[in-house]
This record gives sequence, structure tokens and C-alpha cells, in this order.
Amino acid sequence: MKKQFKAESKKLLEMMIHSIYTNQEIFLRELISNASDALDKLSYRALTDKKIKVKKDSLNIEIKLDKESRTLTILDNGIGMNQEELENNLGTIAKSGSELFKESMDDAKNISIIGQFGVGFYSAFMISDKVVVHSKSIESDKAYTWESSGVDGYSIKESDKKENGTEIILYLKENTEDNNYDDFLEEATIERLVKKYSDYIHYPIKMMIDEKMETLNSMVPIWKKKKSDVKEEEYQDFYTDKFYDYEKPLHIIRSEVEGRCSYQSLLFIPSHAPYNYYSKDYEKGLQLYSKGVLIMDKCSELLPDYFSFVKGLVDSEDISLNISRETLQENYQITAIAKSLETKIKKELEAMLDKNREDYEKFYKDFGMQLKFGIYSSYGMKKDVLQNLLLFYSSNEMKYVTLKEYISRMKEDQKEIYYACAETLEKAELLPQVEKVKEKGYEILYLTEYLDEFTLKSMMNYEEKTFVNVADEKLDLDTEEEKKELDEKNESEKDLLETMGKTLENVSSVRFTNRLKSHPVCLRSKGEISVEMQKVLESMPNNQEGVKAEVVMEVNMNHPIAKKLEELYQDKDMDTLEKYSKILYQEARLIEGLSVDNPTELSNLVCELLAK
Ligand code: ADP
Ligand code: MG
Repeated sequence: MKKQFKAESKKLLEMMIHSIYTNQEIFLRELISNASDALDKLSYRALTDKKIKVKKDSLNIEIKLDKESRTLTILDNGIGMNQEELENNLGTIAKSGSELFKESMDDAKNISIIGQFGVGFYSAFMISDKVVVHSKSIESDKAYTWESSGVDGYSIKESDKKENGTEIILYLKENTEDNNYDDFLEEATIERLVKKYSDYIHYPIKMMIDEKMETLNSMVPIWKKKKSDVKEEEYQDFYTDKFYDYEKPLHIIRSEVEGRCSYQSLLFIPSHAPYNYYSKDYEKGLQLYSKGVLIMDKCSELLPDYFSFVKGLVDSEDISLNISRETLQENYQITAIAKSLETKIKKELEAMLDKNREDYEKFYKDFGMQLKFGIYSSYGMKKDVLQNLLLFYSSNEMKYVTLKEYISRMKEDQKEIYYACAETLEKAELLPQVEKVKEKGYEILYLTEYLDEFTLKSMMNYEEKTFVNVADEKLDLDTEEEKKELDEKNESEKDLLETMGKTLENVSSVRFTNRLKSHPVCLRSKGEISVEMQKVLESMPNNQEGVKAEVVMEVNMNHPIAKKLEELYQDKDMDTLEKYSKILYQEARLIEGLSVDNPTELSNLVCELLAK
């Protein structure tokens, strides 16, 4: 009986059959990689299930070429598949890829992305008319055959395969003008492709050559080869193959540590965030090997959350094959390796920041949020690890700077690190409080992401310099003289200011200021919560009532509007004074990027005054 492929599988299959993906030869890498996974799974099962006995040396992959029937066969004695698994695994796209594939279905032209789907098995159809899979699961007495000639479906029936494992027979397509599929029946071609793509596979890949069984791959895992013997490109291929990425990694870290706990590691920093990185679905972790044998696919204990973007593997002789998930956290070796990896990753990132700023900024755009979150969520405890990895936009350069760079060029009299918050750089530039601080010649960090200010607040300070929001009333840039002048002004106009304050519900007081240059008004926050933080808190789903910034409205004492307010008060025109106050307050909100409380009232007021 013929069964139908699931819709997205069919679509993918169509793409494969028509070979939009020009790099056809990768089918071999994909099928070998599946065979190797199946062998891994079997040896992993044997570790945990006493009933399953495996002779380690017997695990292997075999390739058979038959020019007469024009078939290429790949055989493994791994875990195998039962009927249901054949159905689920080969009838649908691998789970690793399906979500993303569905997302970008409309964008089928974007074929370079294909590696990330784990389309692996279907790539067989790039070169074959028909694919037959005989498989027997290690846990079943029965064997089954899956067969398909492409999009119109597949069939499954019982078969008489005796040994556990999987045999995949590819019936090659007819040769065409552009494609000589016969090439894949040549021993030399296969030898070359195995060397090129699958050399590191740690099971022997065997083939008959001149009537002798030969092993085609060196079997030395890439992380155990001499560093000088591995080309950059090989690491990149290894990464894209093993970690389902379509882009090569931004940075590769290979290290070897000898000591109380010895290990080798091969780590990769991706060049972009995986599509689910900032979601709950993302699982951090490194592959864990013990003497070259995979014992865990995602060991999360090896990475702190703030480096969760790192992919790769660790191989250690000191880790027992029988290590259990439950005891990982207390495992001395794991803790020691994790500590050492953390230091290594930190150093590498710092070096990248130092020597390859462009790469680092690319990295930071995608993963900087995770570093900031590391500081924030640890209440600043992790700041020693992370603070020198942070970047913020600078008002001086309008590009990213580090905190170290900032303080290295602080003016002599500058005691604090100034920052301003806004949704965008353009808006930050336009903030009324920014203008004056810049005029005094100070550099300001522009914080445009919602986590930024929370991060700085959790750090408290950097190299003993505290962070001060230019909108904070604590900002203190005035000379004694200027202060005195301002105090006197506020004192003499006390009654006016109080009257204005009473008409405005949402501000705690109104004052004159000399900290604005051309702008008439601004809002300044008092206490720990800034206006910007309040915006973030308000947008959170479980916004706690009562978390509010205490806000002071400041009027520029040197602006003509100040004079006008004084006049209105002297003329006892309280009605107009109230209208002016309201308009000024809403203006200030607009400048801060807040919404106007009551737009109708505002526009009516403005029109009324315009008509006068
Ligand atoms: P992926 O390898 O990314 O999961 P593939 O399309 O390459 O996706 O394979 C789909 C699934 O089919 C695999 O996850 C595996 O469960 C199963 N499979 C493929 N080849 C084999 C094999 N040789 N032995 C056992 N299972 C296999
Ligand atoms: Mg695969």
C-alpha cells in the first residue's frame, strides 16, 4: 500500500528531486552521518542497557558499488529502525529541522539554508530515482523495507534482514547532459568524497577496492588530530554538519588541557543566533565524549547560561562512560571542565574584541543581550566575567565602545559614567538632558535596548565609577555659582512652581533648571526607577502595580517660556497658567518617548491658545 508524505516533506522532496541544491555530492556525507549517528545510538544504548551487547570493534559502515544494477548501497550495523520509526523518521522531515523549514517554506529559493533543516536523508533523492531502505531495529525480531520513488509516496513491508542495522540502496538517476551520475559508482569518487566530508567519522567506513576491503577514513576525530593537520575548512564543515548550521562559525576555539581533569575541546561561536535562541525551546549544552565515544549529546552543565550560544564538544578520559544525568551537577570533573571552559571562552571573546572588532560586533549584535542578561540575572555577581565584553553606543563616536574605552578618555574632572536611554540612537541624541551634558564635553553612552539600564543598575559601577542617567536628578555638573543661581530662582518662584505642580497629577513637583540648553522642559526621575525603566516594567506581562518612576518636571529657566509663566502668575491668570502647565507636561512626555495621556485634551488646549 502506498502512503503519502507529509505536506512539508513532500515539498522538500520536490526540491531535492529537482536538485535546486547544486552540491549533490553531499548526499554521501548525509547518509554516512546518519549511519554514524545510528552506531552512536547503539553504543550509547549498550552503555545503559545490559541486555544489549555490542562489540565495539564490530561497529562499522560499508559502502557497496554495483555498476550493473547502477546502485550505491550504504550499510551500517547500528541501532536500526522498526516499522514505526521508518514511518516517522523517513516519512517526515527530521524534527531538528521541521520548524524552521515550515517557517521559511515560502522562501524556498533560499536554499543555502537547507543544511539547518537536517534534511539529510532526503538528499538521497538528488541523485536517485528510487531509494530502498532495509532496516532491523536492535529491539525487534522483525525487519522492514521502506521504499520510495519520490513525491508520490512510499511503502513499507516486512523483510527478511537478519542483522540489526540499516541498509540504504540508491538506484541512481539516468545520466543527463549536465550530470553524470555514473560518477558515483566509481571507487575513486567515493574515496575522495569520504576523505573530503567524512574523514573524522570515528567508525570505519569500508569499501571493496580491487577485491580487498579497505577503510576509507582515518577515523581520528577532528579534535584529536594534530592541530597543524586540520584545515580551517575542515572545522567549518564539521561544524555545519554536526551542529545544523548553514553558515560557517564566526570563531573556532580548540583547546587541550592536561591536569587533574584532562580534556580536549572544540568549541564554535556561531555567526548568527539560531532561530529559536531567545526562546524557551533553545537547549544549551556541549556534546560530551569519553575517549572518543559520545556519551551525551547536550550536556548543559558544561556551559553557563550567558555563554549558552557556544556549540561544540568536550572529550575527556577522566569522565566515566557510565556517568548519569542525575549526578552531573555534583560531578567534580564536569564542574572543573565547565570552569575551565568558561575562562577560555571569556578570554577568546576578549581577544576577539581586541583584535577583530568587526567580528566581535557581529557577535555582539546577536548575543550581546545574553551577556547583559547574565549580569542582570545574577544581580551583578557575574560582572567580573562579563563587564569587559559589553558594548554600548557612544555619543562621541556614534559607534560601539567598551566601558574600558569610555573611562580611559574621561575628562579629568569627570567622576561618573553618563548614560541616556531611548528607543533609538536618534531619539537619544534629541533628549533634552543629553544636549547640555554633551555641551559640557562629556561622553554619553546611549542605551537603546530594554535590558541595558537594568544591566548597569545591577553592576552599580565600573572600576569604581558609578553610572548616572543624564535624566537622573542626582546628575551634578554645575559649578557652585550655577547651583546658587538656580537655588535662588527656585526659591523666589516657589509659589508659582507649587501652583503648577498642583495642576499636574502625575508629577511629584515642578522646578526650574539650568541643565537644558534649547529645550523648554524635560522630565527627570527621582529615586531608583527611571522613566525608561518604568516603560519596560509597564510592558511586562506581570507588571507589578506601584512600580513607578517618581517624576519631576523641569522647566528651562533660560527659555522664554519661563518668563511667560512668571507673567501669568503675576497677572493672577491661573486658568491660562494651568493650560500652559498641562501642555508643557505632555510635551515633555512626548520628548521622553512616552505617550500623551489625553490627546484630545492636548490638541484642544493647543488650538485654543493658537486661536488667541
Ligand atoms: P537528522 O539526521 O537530522 O535527524 P535525517 O533526515 O538525516 O535527519 O534522518 C532522519 C531520521 O531518520 C534520523 O533522525 C534517524 O532517526 C533516522 N535514520 C536515518 N538514517 C538512519 C540509519 N542509518 N539508521 C537509523 N536511523 C536512521
Ligand atoms: Mg542526518
